[in-house]
Amino acid sequence: MTTDRELLTSGGLTVTMSDTKIRVPRHLSEDQVALLRSLLLCQMAVHADQAAELRATADGLTGQMDSDSLLERELAETSATRFMVALLEARVALRRLDEGSYGICEVCTTPIPYERLEAIPHALRCVSCPAAPAGKPG
Ligand SMILES: [Zn+2]
Repeated sequence: MTTDRELLTSGGLTVTMSDTKIRVPRHLSEDQVALLRSLLLCQMAVHADQAAELRATADGLTGQMDSDSLLERELAETSATRFMVALLEARVALRRLDEGSYGICEVCTTPIPYERLEAIPHALRCVSCPAAPAGKPG
C-alpha cells in the first residue's frame, strides 16, 4: 500500500529504501525478471491508455439515445473496465515482483515456468491450477 503511494508521489521513480533488496524468484534469472518487469510496466501503460481512450469514447456518447450510440457506449465502458482489470493485474504482479513472491503459483506454490510468465507476465497461477472460482476476483 505505502509502496504504491510512494511510487505515485515520486512520479513513478523507483523508490530506493535503505535496505530494500530486489528479491529474484529462484527459478528466474535477473535478466528474465528485468524483462518481465518491463513487460508489466509496458502493459500497464498500454492498458491505462486504452482504458482512458475508451472512457473518453463513452463520455463522448453520453446523452445520445439512439441504439447505435447506446450500444457503442456500453461496449466502450465494458472494454474500459476490462483494461482497468488488466491494469490492476499487472500492478499486483509488479508488487509481487517487489515482494519476491512473483512467479510462484498462489495456489500450489509451484514455480511458474518462465515461458508461461513471458506469455502472461501477470499470471499468478501455474497451468495446473484452475482459474479462480466464479464470484472471486483473480
Ligand atoms: Zn499451481
